[in-house]
Amino acid sequence: MPLLESWVASANEPTTDFPLNNLPYGVFSTADAEPRCGVAIGDMILDVAAAEEAGVLTPAEEPVFDVPFWNDFMELGADTWAEFRAELTGALAANSPKKPALEPFLVPQSEATLHMPFAVSEYTDFYAGMQHAMNMGAILRGSPDLPANWLHIPIGYNGRASSVVVSGTDIHRPLGQTRAPDADMPGFGPSKRLDIELEMGAIVGTGSTLGQPISTAQADEMIFGYVLLNDWSARDIQGWEYQPLGPFQGKAFGTSISPWIVTAAALEDFRTPVPPREKPLLPYLHEEKPGLYDINLEVLMQPAGAERATVISRTNYNRMYYSAAQQLCHHAIGGCEMSPGDLLGSGTISGPTRDEFGSLMELSWAGREPFTLDTGEQRSFIEDGDTLTLRGHAQGNGFRIGFGDCTGTILPAIDTPDWAK
Ligand code: CA
Repeated sequence: MPLLESWVASANEPTTDFPLNNLPYGVFSTADAEPRCGVAIGDMILDVAAAEEAGVLTPAEEPVFDVPFWNDFMELGADTWAEFRAELTGALAANSPKKPALEPFLVPQSEATLHMPFAVSEYTDFYAGMQHAMNMGAILRGSPDLPANWLHIPIGYNGRASSVVVSGTDIHRPLGQTRAPDADMPGFGPSKRLDIELEMGAIVGTGSTLGQPISTAQADEMIFGYVLLNDWSARDIQGWEYQPLGPFQGKAFGTSISPWIVTAAALEDFRTPVPPREKPLLPYLHEEKPGLYDINLEVLMQPAGAERATVISRTNYNRMYYSAAQQLCHHAIGGCEMSPGDLLGSGTISGPTRDEFGSLMELSWAGREPFTLDTGEQRSFIEDGDTLTLRGHAQGNGFRIGFGDCTGTILPAIDTPDWAK
């Protein structure tokens, strides 16, 4: 599909993240307006909440944008998603007769503050990147061999929805319990091995029924859209706590997502299959549609005071071994009910070479081989004041489907309370 021309001139630039082909969904506020639903178009936001209130846009019979999140809209289901997208696409297209009616509802992105685009019902994080799993095995256990279950199960754990935050939210270095390799007793204090994980987040738009499994085809249709996701990780806390039940405090202090939900519809032309299977999957995990997407990803790191950021990794979502539909199917296969607003982290995305690794743990090989930034500074893990940014886009013919930045700055740890010393 070529670029769809819009009467919003900035949406026709080949480098914008938000051409008419994209139309991602977010929540924004301005000095004059409380948080409300909006759609990114070029360097503007269409205030769909105000447009709905004025009767210019009618996504449903009852108002859905009278709340500052997209969950109510998601619950209406795939037919409504498609109808509203078609309505928006027509109304914002070049030469649309709707231009005079909609133009008053455009707000410059430069004047807007972005908020969480949806209420996160629950957050589950997976471990579906093979290169990442092999790297972690090599680093932590001295062998890149995959765990015995890895080629059969999309491995995951239940994370925290409460600490999922929108891009731009600063994160304090977490306090926690760690143990040095040669120590008898653990200690308590700020994490010394703070890391990122480059991931995609899939957002469940329609739910399933308690006790009822879903197929990969059903799961695919339930996914509303995708965001970039940084699963901040305290490796020293994680390393001490994770056996036998998996990550806990090492992951619970913060997860950042990009501010715009890029819909599955906008990504449809960029579908790509999962790589060849190393071992046959059980039938319930087979999928008909190619479940991944060709999305270019990069990670940038910028120390406090540095004039610009250094790209420290470039890879692609097509590196993953399991798709979000396979993960969602597996999540519900025992009868677990899935809800609108459920967020599924893909797992760290790492390609085959070091310049494609999606965590600092891998990029610095657990601190044994620090890397150098453009400023000349060396890094193994995150220092206070560092800003980490994820970027991603699918490249079309003359346009891109972008996600907007997923960024966060690490603040110093809060003072350790006296009762914890
Ligand atoms: Ca993760």
